[in-house]
Amino acid sequence: MVRTWSLAALAVGFWLLSAFGQSRPDALGLDAPAGQFSAARAAAVLGRILPDQKPHPAGSAEAEQVRARILKELAALGVGAHTQSGMSCYVSPRNNFLPCGTVTNIIAEVSRGSGKAVLLMAHSDSVAAGPGAGDDSSGVAILLETLRALKERAPSGGNHPVVALFTDGEEADLLGAAFYLRDPKAREAIGAVINVEARGNQGPSYLFQTSSGNGRLIDLYAQSVSHYATSSLYQEIYRRLPNDTDLTPMLGLGVPAMNFAFIGNFAQYHTPLDRRENLDPQSLQQQGEAALGVADRLQHADLAQLKSGDAIYLDVLGRWLPRLAARWALPLSIACFVLIALAGLWSGERAGWRRGVLAAAVPPLLLAACVGMGFLLHGLAAWISGQADPSFAHPVWLRLSLAFGAFAPAIFLARKACAITCWLWFAGLAIVCALWAPGLAPYFLFPSLVAAPLLLATIHKGRTAALFVAALAALTVWIGLNQGGEAIGGLRMHPLFMVSAGFGLLALLPLLQTARSKYSCLVSLLAALVLAVVAGFQPAYSDKAPERLNLRYAEMDGKAFWLADPVLHLPASLRAAADFSHLPQPVADFGSFYVAPAGRAHFPAPHVTAHREGGDVTLDIDAPGDGFILLLPKNVQSQAVRLNDLGSRAAKPLAGIGCATPDCSHARLTLQLGAKDKGVLTLLAYRYGLPPESARLLQARPPQAVPSQSGDRTLLVTKIAMPAR
Ligand SMILES: [Zn+2]
Repeated sequence: MVRTWSLAALAVGFWLLSAFGQSRPDALGLDAPAGQFSAARAAAVLGRILPDQKPHPAGSAEAEQVRARILKELAALGVGAHTQSGMSCYVSPRNNFLPCGTVTNIIAEVSRGSGKAVLLMAHSDSVAAGPGAGDDSSGVAILLETLRALKERAPSGGNHPVVALFTDGEEADLLGAAFYLRDPKAREAIGAVINVEARGNQGPSYLFQTSSGNGRLIDLYAQSVSHYATSSLYQEIYRRLPNDTDLTPMLGLGVPAMNFAFIGNFAQYHTPLDRRENLDPQSLQQQGEAALGVADRLQHADLAQLKSGDAIYLDVLGRWLPRLAARWALPLSIACFVLIALAGLWSGERAGWRRGVLAAAVPPLLLAACVGMGFLLHGLAAWISGQADPSFAHPVWLRLSLAFGAFAPAIFLARKACAITCWLWFAGLAIVCALWAPGLAPYFLFPSLVAAPLLLATIHKGRTAALFVAALAALTVWIGLNQGGEAIGGLRMHPLFMVSAGFGLLALLPLLQTARSKYSCLVSLLAALVLAVVAGFQPAYSDKAPERLNLRYAEMDGKAFWLADPVLHLPASLRAAADFSHLPQPVADFGSFYVAPAGRAHFPAPHVTAHREGGDVTLDIDAPGDGFILLLPKNVQSQAVRLNDLGSRAAKPLAGIGCATPDCSHARLTLQLGAKDKGVLTLLAYRYGLPPESARLLQARPPQAVPSQSGDRTLLVTKIAMPAR
């Protein structure tokens, strides 16, 4: 009987997830009402902005063309716009690298109003390796379609002015956003910020980051969109990650801010495959509906009233957005814990202390076993495949294997489990999270809020139905998290997924106590192993989910080299095309690569003259190309830098300074050094792409490997001895 209930819970849980888990709006066509956001119209805008699908990094001629097309679109909408250009450096408190470059932002005044402005942002540049249809030309197109609909809804605007900012140089480390904030008047005028981004080219559009004090902002989001994808956990995670977007420098303003990104098909992110035809129209639609809905409400809202305490929240299947003020997390968690404990005490079931201890140990044992299974199964697949991420291209087999792998210890441990102790763990962890990581608290608290009253109400009656409902709540929340999490990092992050799978199954344990558990456990384990073996025999990479493998041509010390990224196995075709080293080797302080000789150097080396005045070392750099990186040796402690006319002071001693735009071909760079600082500086002048003699090598790169990020580059390396005082 219990076994039937448990299997029903699993079945219903998974049915809910598959039917509603990815609940997203349908993409609207060209005939959608004018006041609504239409993915088809946004896709048409995208087609006009990016007709030739060329990479357009900051400073490139292609970036200039994209800007001209955006300005044309704005003019067609009757929106006044201007550009601002200049050298920008972004000083980040966490980085010891100072990125700089000359950027050109587009600022569009969409509607007038009084008080501070609602600022809508997307970045117009792409990485050098790909056309960036998703990241972030989709964001540009979404903003343009949003502006059109906003004007349609309220031709004379709302209370607040609306400004659209199309930043440049986001991929070169947030240079455009930092440049915009340099103008004190522009800073002062910002009342709220919405940033639109992409990590991949499919998947739900997540509200993955907000300003702090977000309670009312989350309410506003809930009222503005029909399909939710958000969680206070993302906020908690993103706070701890070194990833930045254009919103990062804006968060310092302390105004309400929201960051949207669709996340999915990460394999094509920042690669040549980030093309228009690979974009999911539903992702466009959901992101557009969110941007339009939120912008429309913000332009009419009292922005000062939006400050509040933090909320804890998570979306359930994209349909509901239960949320609570974060300050309620602790008292409610304690209340749940007490209620569940009372339900245990009053039930009159008495087990010996030995059984009690065992039951209390079951939850941590289950989590440990799940994580261990993850390592075992992923390790097995990796061993067979010979690749570190064996399921990158074909994740389905390993995903199933991990699911059975988590189920096996759950069945095994279920015999020792007790409903009260399982739920005490949930409520106890809710207390711990409320204290130290409130964003994670709802994953324990919300199911506990379902379980506690049900357990209390069923002290003397059959508890099975109560446990079924409570387990369903936990399964939905945790397995849903699993689904979203895989989109971000792939199955390589299995230790994380196995923890969330473990928590989902934990609530099911009290329902899984069956007489024939040993048999089911063995069958699950066997299925997990067989599926892991099958996963291991799948090719790790495919044309659609290729390996990231940049090639570089480098000249240093009068010699030329081919460099290939230090992937686990360099494809044989590349080895046949050039005599690459057996293993990756460190190259001139900037990383490890497979190295092959490429004859004699024949490009003119970058020319740098250095002179010193007291603590200031000034470098006059003459390095034709698309940009440079200057590496400082470890014993040099420089924090103050001047590049052309722009001075910057870094938060930490710098390990490097970069200029990511071609105007830096001729630059003057001054470093303020300590009295004892000396050593040799390394200058890498780079140019996107490879010289013509690379044709054979480029042809040898298999279709299952692609350039990514900055892509293939030509590097000219020069050493600069620092002049003595
Ligand atoms: Zn981006």
